[in-house]
Formats: sequence, structure tokens, C-alpha cells
Amino acid sequence: MRQEQLDSLRLMPVAPPQMIIGGASVAAQSEQTLAVYSPIDGALLTHLPHADEFDVNAAVSAARLSFDAGTWSRMAPLARKKILLRWAELVEEHALELAVLGVRDNGTEISMAFKAEPMSAAGTIRFYAESIDKIYGEIAPTALSVLALIQKEPVGVVGAIVPWNFPLMISAWKIAPALAMGNSVVLKPSEVASLSVLRLVELAHEAGLPEGVLNVVTGAGPVAGRALAMSMDVDALVFTGSGGVGRQLMQYAAQSNLKRVFLELGGKSPHVVFDDAKDLDVAAKAVVAGIFRNAGQVCIAGSRLLVADRIHDVLVDKVVALTEAMQVGDPLDLNTQIGAVSSEQHLNRVLDSLAGVSSIATGGQRMLQDTGGSYMRPAVVTEVEADNALFREEVFGPVLTVTRFSDEAEAVALSNATELGLAAGVWTSDLSRAHRMITALKAGVVHVNTYGGADNTVPLGGFKQSGNGHDKSLHAIDKFINKKTAWIAL
Ligand code: NAD
Repeated sequence: MRQEQLDSLRLMPVAPPQMIIGGASVAAQSEQTLAVYSPIDGALLTHLPHADEFDVNAAVSAARLSFDAGTWSRMAPLARKKILLRWAELVEEHALELAVLGVRDNGTEISMAFKAEPMSAAGTIRFYAESIDKIYGEIAPTALSVLALIQKEPVGVVGAIVPWNFPLMISAWKIAPALAMGNSVVLKPSEVASLSVLRLVELAHEAGLPEGVLNVVTGAGPVAGRALAMSMDVDALVFTGSGGVGRQLMQYAAQSNLKRVFLELGGKSPHVVFDDAKDLDVAAKAVVAGIFRNAGQVCIAGSRLLVADRIHDVLVDKVVALTEAMQVGDPLDLNTQIGAVSSEQHLNRVLDSLAGVSSIATGGQRMLQDTGGSYMRPAVVTEVEADNALFREEVFGPVLTVTRFSDEAEAVALSNATELGLAAGVWTSDLSRAHRMITALKAGVVHVNTYGGADNTVPLGGFKQSGNGHDKSLHAIDKFINKKTAWIAL
């Protein structure tokens, strides 16, 4: 990836995209569109089809038709695998184009987006493609007079609703295992980041995916997303996004056909540094990267630094210095470490969360306003008590809180003192303490002496109000299969 390539791709006009329903590119039936603005400079990028219930129902029907026809659901596993592997290759071949399109749409710095978006999506598609011919049914240990088989069957039509941070990575976490198991899918990306997802789905068709198997509808969450969640013909709904919308989806399922709902929601992840951490410089770097990359818009962002009293001042000084040294700005500049906040509206929400906060050690102000983009200086807020909203509620922006603890028991209590439980980090050189912390922390992933980076071999799922499902790893497949028992008298 060279700067000149980025500079030329950023100038490419973005043709108004179309949705993909039944293999065809279509506008919304109402012909309504939504304007898409780039957070890089506030410029109008293009217009997106604004789907309503009619379009969503058409997409669900196309998915059902393809599922029942068996063009994919009954295709030989090896043939399905070949198509998904070809898709992964195409995603890699188009990685730069996909990454730049996504960055223009949501503002993630390209230094992160290239790996975390197309390359990660390609890896995920490949991971599940390779699982297709390695997942077996079971024979139960019954009496010899009976043969009992447990068959794994696709659930049917899967609805997938995804957020604007990492649209390709998270779409792939949903659709790759769903497709690998033979389901048909209707995908609803965020209205803030649909462009690269539409291109991803075009590539699936270029790879040979039969029409109707993977459909995309775009538009506003409360209209298109709601229609998908209310559909009487969607069998399972997988979601990544905020807790508020997650709650609504469960209600929609209850009000419609009781579709199963799997939620991956927000986090308020503690990053705990003990005074026996081996190297505070290494820990400080990980703390800063763990909250500020992608302007803090990372579900597992370590947004609460909990630090042992004895090293508090030293570590905070290091964290503040590293924060102030981070390069914030144009996400398509290869040197940028923190890009734009995804939209003007979200930037204002993040800035509002700091209103009236007095103990800001650094940052917290809007910057580069003359560019027309939505940028802010990453903020470190010290002496934050456990009853403060900043300590408890997800900001989903570049804001790090700092809280002291005196001993391990207090570190555990503070870590677990929120309703969320997605991720955590622990820095210690004491192996026993590390294991005690892993057990004590109520979080889906606990990083020890590192932060982030867990790959496709392990599940990601929230504890408490951070969700009820798992993305990644072979465990994610359970959401997309029905286990059917055959009880055969011999
Ligand atoms: P969001 O909940 O606002 O939107 C997510 C999706 O839901 C979008 O596609 C949106 O259009 C749709 N939506 C909105 N209202 C809807 C409704 N009434 N019915 C149906 N669909 C609706 O979330 P966001 O702001 O796009 O993303 C940020 C959130 O996602 C944060 O809370 C973050 O922590 C979370 N997240 C979680 C994970 C994880 O793995 N747990 C990963 C990434 C992001």
C-alpha cells in the first residue's frame, strides 16, 4: 500500500450504489435515498437506497426462494467451499479498493482498516469455507436396538444487522459461518457504512454464489432493520450494535415469529495494570492503542484504565505523553494513527459525554474543524469514580478514564462494576494472579500482558449485557444450524 495509491483512490467518484436482492442490483422500490457524507471532510459521497418494508420483504422472499430451491443449501459441501474460497481470494485481490471505500465512508485510519477490514474479512471467509467439509453429524450412544443420529441442518433464512465500525470484518463474522452452513442471508449494514459491504457482496456473486443466497438491503435502522427483525420469515437474527437496539430486536422477535436472536453488544472494558507489571512502557503503549485506535470506536476498546496506586502517577504520565504524541487526522494518510469519528452526529455525542468533566488530563476537544471532517483530540480523564457515568456507560469514542485501586480485590470489584462484560486486559508478571484474574473477571475475553489481536480460532462474545452469542471460531456455527434427531428402531 503506497500513499500515491491512496491519494488516487480517494478521488474516485462513488456511483450511487444499489442493493442486491435475488442477485439483481436494485434501487429502493420507493426510489427514496439517503445522503452519505464522508467524515473525512464532510463532503457528500453518494446516495444510498433507503429500503422500506417492501424491499426488505422482497429480500427475505428471495432468500427463502433460494433456500427452498436448494441451489446453495443442498449444494455439495465441497462445491460450497470452493465458491467461498474463491470469494476470499477476490476480497484479497480488491483489498485496497474495499479498504479505501470503507475509510471514505466511516473514517477509520487506513493503517488499521486495511488489515482489520478486507484482509480480516477474507481470513474469516476462508476460515469458515475450510470448516464446511470438516463438520460432522453425531451418532448417539443408545441401546443397540436403536440408531440415533444427530443431523446438523441450516436454519433457513438468516437476517444479519451490523454496525458502522468495521463493517467488512463484522459482516464476515456473521455471513461467512451462516453461508458455510448452507443458509440464505439478508444483510442490513449500517446506514453510516454500507458502501464497502455492498461491494463485498458483489464480489461474492462474482465468485459464483447463486442468486438470492446473499441479499443486502440498505437504509435506516428503525425502518429497514426493524422490518427485517419483524419479518415472519426470518429464522434467525444475528446482530452487532448497541444495547438499546439489541433490546428492541428481542422485542421485535417476540412480536413476530420468535426468531432466535443473537446479540453482540457494547463494552466498557477494564484495562488493569498491577504494580508488578513487567514493563510499564509496554503496558502504557498497549493501553493507549487499546482505546484510541479507530478513534475509540472498537467494541473491545479498553476504555477504563484501572491502575495500582503505587504506579498510578508514573503510568498516567506515560499514557498522557503517548496520547498527546498520537497523530490524529486524515484517515487516508498512511501515518495517521487516529482517523475521524464516524459521523458528525456521533462526534457530538462523544463530546457531550465530556461536558462538565473537570479532571481531563489531556484532549477532549474537537480539532481540524476547517477540514469539514469530524475529528477530536483523544481524551484521558483521571480520578474517575465508579459511580460516574463515564465509568459505567459506553462512550464509543476516544475517551479513556483512569481509576486507582489499592489491591487485587479492589481491582476485581472495579473491573466488574458495570453492566457490560465484553473484554478486559490484565498486566502482571505474577502467573498465579493472572489466572485468578482470568477467572474473576466477568468478560468474554481477558487479555493478559497484551491487548486485542485475538484471531478467528477463538470466540468473541459478551457476558452480562454485552450480548448473548459468539462470533468467530467454530462455536459461532451453532447459531446457524438446527440439530435434528433421527431415532431409528433397528
Ligand atoms: P447501532 O445499534 O446504532 O446500529 C447497529 C445496526 O442496527 C445498524 O445497522 C442500524 O441501522 C441498525 N438499527 C438501528 N436501529 C434499529 C432498529 N430499531 N431496528 C433494527 N435495526 C436497527 O450501533 P452502531 O452505533 O452502528 O455501532 C456501535 C455499537 O456497536 C457500539 O455499542 C459497539 O460497542 C457495538 N459493537 C459491538 C461489537 C461486538 O462484537 N460485541 C462489535 C462492534 C460494535
